[in-house]
Amino acid sequence: MQISFQQAHRGNYLPASRDKEDIRYLVIHFTANNGDTARNNADYFARETLSTSAHYFVDEREVWQSVADRDIAWHCGTRGTYYHPYCRNANSIGIELCSRIQNGKYYFMPETEQMAAALVRQLMERYAIAEDHVLRHYDVTHKTCPAPYVESAAAWEVFKNRCKEADDMTEAQVKRLIEQSKTVYRSAEDVPAWGRPTVEKLVQKGWLQGEEQSLNLSDDLLRTLVINDRAGLYGA
Ligand SMILES: [Zn+2]
Repeated sequence: MQISFQQAHRGNYLPASRDKEDIRYLVIHFTANNGDTARNNADYFARETLSTSAHYFVDEREVWQSVADRDIAWHCGTRGTYYHPYCRNANSIGIELCSRIQNGKYYFMPETEQMAAALVRQLMERYAIAEDHVLRHYDVTHKTCPAPYVESAAAWEVFKNRCKEADDMTEAQVKRLIEQSKTVYRSAEDVPAWGRPTVEKLVQKGWLQGEEQSLNLSDDLLRTLVINDRAGLYGA
């Protein structure tokens, strides 16, 4: 996996000399933006003094590192209550997934999740981090982060399972995913059989409606909707 590096501004992290054994947790976040890129985030954190940071930013195409693993990023600290007994900035690595918004809901592109899962798996291997030490920001401070995995525990489970099996994708797989992500369904009839019940349900409830009778539903959003539906988020 190729990782680009753009050092964060000195005011955004704590230089440290952590050993491998000091890194015990991986904490997953979302950027809470709509269609931002890993590179834009790395540039932004290099330019501005924000007193906050993450080690990695992931989008559907790239991974950018902003803070070196040995240094301490400020990503899961709080002046309030810690809900996890051990995980802190000092012993963790923070990973931000670039998000998107549709119909008022945050979601991740499947390629972003795939890329992040491959990164998580690589870090789990490098630092001998167990599966139950891969956490959501929510697990540490109860912040709604990353929203797609706080709102859907099932989606979080799917992601964690992917971290166990993720291998670097072949170029052909990546191209196929990007191709799929552009697929737009205009009506419920266009939607493949596995997604149709979900779409019909949401249209019936009036939660999903396209402009001028057209759904304009992308394939990646359809996948997210189906995962949420299977998790029971949209009722019977
Ligand atoms: Zn967060």
